[in-house]
Amino acid sequence: METRKRVGVLALQGDFEAHERALQRAGADAVQVRTADDLATVDGLIIPGGESTTMLKLIEQENLFEPLREFGERKPIFGTCAGAILLARGVSNPMQRSLGLMDIDVQRNGYGRQLDSRIATVRPDAASGLGGGEVEAVFIRAPIITRVGDGAQVLASYRDTPVLVEQGRFLASTFHPELTGDGRIHRHFVEKVAG
Ligand code: GLN
Repeated sequence: METRKRVGVLALQGDFEAHERALQRAGADAVQVRTADDLATVDGLIIPGGESTTMLKLIEQENLFEPLREFGERKPIFGTCAGAILLARGVSNPMQRSLGLMDIDVQRNGYGRQLDSRIATVRPDAASGLGGGEVEAVFIRAPIITRVGDGAQVLASYRDTPVLVEQGRFLASTFHPELTGDGRIHRHFVEKVAG
């Protein structure tokens, strides 16, 4: 029998509990990560949505910035919304330090008022490995992914902007897959962790 993977959720700020539930549904053991010692026990990590400036401040306070970057050199990370902002190389509106693990640039709150908080339907690319059909995408003050590097692949778009991007062991979404019952994106990440 295959062993369940331990997937961490950065639990400093934001909606980490919804990710824990989604990971359990996807067949992984979810672990709250608050310290570098916690990080050392997991096979992959989700950086949740929330407020990226606050999360960054807490990451720095807990001396987690370098451990997170080193973790990303070896293991899969999935960033959702604020988590995607932290994974990006370039952050604007305003500029902000980030882990720079993914070759994407983001503009914070990029959709403005029109997409302050909305549920939209996106259709992942046929080659995404997510299976066919639509995905319900919950956007909450989402960033816009303004640049996707050559090594990264857009798995889904909304209004001609990328909203789900994969780059090797990294995955970033500007929406919140943990807030819907559709487990495909979490299962996709757990498979990355297992593979
Ligand atoms: N607007 C937030 C930020 O810039 C992200 C919002 C979210 O994670 N839902 O950090």
